[in-house]
Amino acid sequence: MSSSIPISGEVGGTLRGEMAGFVAPRRQPPEQESAGLAGLPRIAYFSMEIALEPSIPTYAGGLGILAGDMLRSAADLGLPMVAVTLVYRGGYFEQKIDEEGRQVETPSAWSPESVLKPVDARTTVTIEGRRVLIRAWCYEVEGIGGHKVPVYLLDTALPENDDQDRTLTERIYGGDRRYRLAQEVVLGMGGTRLLRALGHTNIGKFHMNEGHSALLTMALFEEQMRERLPDSSDFLDELQRLRHRCVFTTHTPIPAGHDAFDRDLVSRVLGEKRTSGLEMRGLMPQGRLNMTELALACSHYVNGVAMRHGEVSRAMFPRFAIRSITNGVHARTWTSPPFQDLYDRYIPEWRRDNLYLRCVLGVPLHEILKAHNAAKRTLFAAIRAETGVALDESRLTLGFARRAVAYKRAELMLSDPERLKKVAKRAGPLQIIYAGKAHPADEEGKAIIRRVIERASEFEDDVHVLYIPNYDMRWGQLLTSGVDIWVNTPLQPHEASGTSGMKAALNGVPSFSVLDGWWIEGHGEGITGWSIGEDSRGDNPSSELASLYNKLGTVIAPLFYAKPAGFAEVMRGTIAFNGSFFNTHRMLNQYVQNAYGLELLPSMVKEGDENGT
Ligand SMILES: *Cc1c(COP(=O)(O)O)cnc(C)c1O
Repeated sequence: MSSSIPISGEVGGTLRGEMAGFVAPRRQPPEQESAGLAGLPRIAYFSMEIALEPSIPTYAGGLGILAGDMLRSAADLGLPMVAVTLVYRGGYFEQKIDEEGRQVETPSAWSPESVLKPVDARTTVTIEGRRVLIRAWCYEVEGIGGHKVPVYLLDTALPENDDQDRTLTERIYGGDRRYRLAQEVVLGMGGTRLLRALGHTNIGKFHMNEGHSALLTMALFEEQMRERLPDSSDFLDELQRLRHRCVFTTHTPIPAGHDAFDRDLVSRVLGEKRTSGLEMRGLMPQGRLNMTELALACSHYVNGVAMRHGEVSRAMFPRFAIRSITNGVHARTWTSPPFQDLYDRYIPEWRRDNLYLRCVLGVPLHEILKAHNAAKRTLFAAIRAETGVALDESRLTLGFARRAVAYKRAELMLSDPERLKKVAKRAGPLQIIYAGKAHPADEEGKAIIRRVIERASEFEDDVHVLYIPNYDMRWGQLLTSGVDIWVNTPLQPHEASGTSGMKAALNGVPSFSVLDGWWIEGHGEGITGWSIGEDSRGDNPSSELASLYNKLGTVIAPLFYAKPAGFAEVMRGTIAFNGSFFNTHRMLNQYVQNAYGLELLPSMVKEGDENGT
């Protein structure tokens, strides 16, 4: 950032605050897709969930959204990538909320047949001694330049399979431990074999997005053992070779988020031979198969999803060199139509290269406010259609939408109603919009939703609290673009990254958040938003709560109501600093540079020709 560009110097200044002399580049001809790219080896990206589009319910939350955004950027940037996930015919679930605030779950079944292309290739895995046949459906993620990234959704619903195996690709994160391990066999081993059956022989890197797919290492190991000449190499060489081909991204600092399976179960599902093979290689420490540790041991590059998360992960797994690549979001997907239009007019290059979003510093503040108000109206119209509630467009509106799980502390903001009412009375009326699903088996998560809704009814005119049911990609886009402030209150250091605040940033919506996850990197006080509490690395809810009410009442609400230009300045700073950086174009470039290893790509070409479909 050049020092001649004032960032926050105009608070309370004119609405026409464009920066003199700051000119966005005009549209440039698109860079030619390199003709040689098709011959390069591919990156194979494995993820338990992928959010492909709003109408395909194959995701539960942030992990799936991130995977989808990664692939959308790979398609935009022309990266030779292919992805594997499970098809989940049963979808996740649709959430309704009854009068008492109880979450009611209805199935979100869908029909892959009517949206996806079948592929001919089949493969098999062995689960509990049974042969399980796997087929796949193909979804193509298409980038702005027409480049396509195929995604294969594995499916075991075949008449050849046993009844219990037919439902292995039915539910996301459903069922018991056995079901989960069997799904992970299908994803990791089945996925690798299916790629081979499809003709993807030239895969340079296998990227495990979270530990669920770690069994792909076993499929690769077995391939290597079959290919090698007798006595040509020992086990350690083989592990070294394997590690060279694998990349692993860990996503959660919470121990329960790391899948681990008892030896008995592993032996039953994988068979005794594979189980003792894992043991012999030291891949089952403490007699358990921990998918994170398996992935760690078998990958040459491992990363957490924000700087702080990398640190926390190194403390959890001190034997491994864990690096960080901070998450991002796919800019085109999460930018509201009014802001897309605004960027198209002022920064036409932004779609191809999100870095240019920093040029928003040259866009007049009144244009930012105008685009935001249009997005706010769109959100409020959608809320009215869904709930019948008419919200007030002139009110400062806070948004909080994320999975209902304890560490996200949805209730924190409402925990002292009297104080919140006082803030609103003094500084101006508030609207608070909540959304988020609880996992069907998470009673604590469901209780959080109930308590938020109970609390909501305790407020009167000055504070209006509303819970929108069925948080999904569509509501994610509407909410992150249509509220005025995006709130996040995780218990440090449990938020690995968080991405919804990045979506908000692309729409000029500042964050008001506890310093955890990505926000430690994205926070500039009064420039991109505001912190709740200090970077204390600890649980200190009372000081966080004091900071929350205090800043809301003395800084944020007064700025919003009395100095719209000052508020718009923060909105613009949010886009320039955070929209330009916390996107998956930047993130993917970092994976290419740091994890996939540019120097490796050309040397792999000789190994085989790419004839993948
Ligand atoms: C973006 C998004 C998430 C992840 O957001 P976090 O900030 O990580 O909680 C989860 N669910 C949906 C529907 C989203 O759009």
